Amino acid sequence: MPLPDVESVPASQDVRAESPVIRIERLGHRYDQRQALDDVSFDVRPAEIFGLLGPNGSGKTTLFRILSTLMLATEGRATIMGHDAAREPNQVRREIGVVFQAASVDAKLTAAENLRHQGHLYGLSGRTLKRRIAEMLGRVGLADRARDRVETLSGGQQRRVELAKGLMHHPAVLLLDEPSTGLDPGARRDLWLYLKMLRDEERVTVVVTTHLMEEAEHCDRLAILNEGKLVALGTPAELKREIGGEVIVMEAREPQSLARRIAERFGGPCNVIDGKVRLEREHGHRFVTDVVEAFPGEIDSISVSKPTLEDVFIDRTGHRFWTGPESGTP
Ligand code: ADP
Repeated sequence: MPLPDVESVPASQDVRAESPVIRIERLGHRYDQRQALDDVSFDVRPAEIFGLLGPNGSGKTTLFRILSTLMLATEGRATIMGHDAAREPNQVRREIGVVFQAASVDAKLTAAENLRHQGHLYGLSGRTLKRRIAEMLGRVGLADRARDRVETLSGGQQRRVELAKGLMHHPAVLLLDEPSTGLDPGARRDLWLYLKMLRDEERVTVVVTTHLMEEAEHCDRLAILNEGKLVALGTPAELKREIGGEVIVMEAREPQSLARRIAERFGGPCNVIDGKVRLEREHGHRFVTDVVEAFPGEIDSISVSKPTLEDVFIDRTGHRFWTGPESGTP
């Protein structure tokens, strides 16, 4: 096979510049009888915020544990900055900062003391360590709280100490498991500002797991998981655009029968999800008039809306994304 002519590749398509930071290849994981991850492949690019979105049990934590070298995958391969997570875990650990869902800082110690301890783990000491602690606390907006015990900080500030801790060794990649859990809306906004700043100013690649749609909307690209499988991959805008047009949802006494007759009359798929008739149409508003005229008295309510990530999930899986009580949706 002839080699590609490297000279002819324009700078913007330079293969080295675009080589993925994380490469997931046919990754699978089985716990005894349960297939938690199934043939998942995707790349994460430099300096992007990449979201792993999925409902509970979809395999996010399993993938997170494999990437953070806490667990070996039973199938396939995960590579971070060119190092195999299974075969070169020490090299991978130098490249990643990990922020777990559960607190890992010592609440009885000050913010600076927590970071000092973390620095020692990575072989930092003396003036270098002192400078790094000041730099990291400054970066997460906590320079003036260095000497305060972590237990006296707000939930959002404590999460920022976790962030600073994960960044102490200047990792290229930051992995965060459900970073918004337990934070109020203001603290969530702050956290996302810091993540975007890290991406833009430090070119850190950020990977977050989340079961929250609104959090996923902040990501540059998303991998959507369902029952261990990758069901969608792309930017939030691309994924929503793929739906094409608008989403129409109807309440009716006989949803199954109505859906069947709408499909016969107008063509295209028409489903019943959670007892409601649901379909996608390019010109939603025009369709509303047509369908109400075609089936007089049969439709109790009808709504037309722009597609959301939930619609993307429904489109790919045929069922709703149950997001739990935290998101406020049933
Ligand atoms: P998520 O983080 O998206 O909630 P997980 O990766 O925790 O998903 O779980 C994926 C699937 O694997 C679920 O069906 C879960 O019950 C199962 N699972 C997770 N951890 C274990 C374990 N240690 N042993 C057996 N099954 C597990």
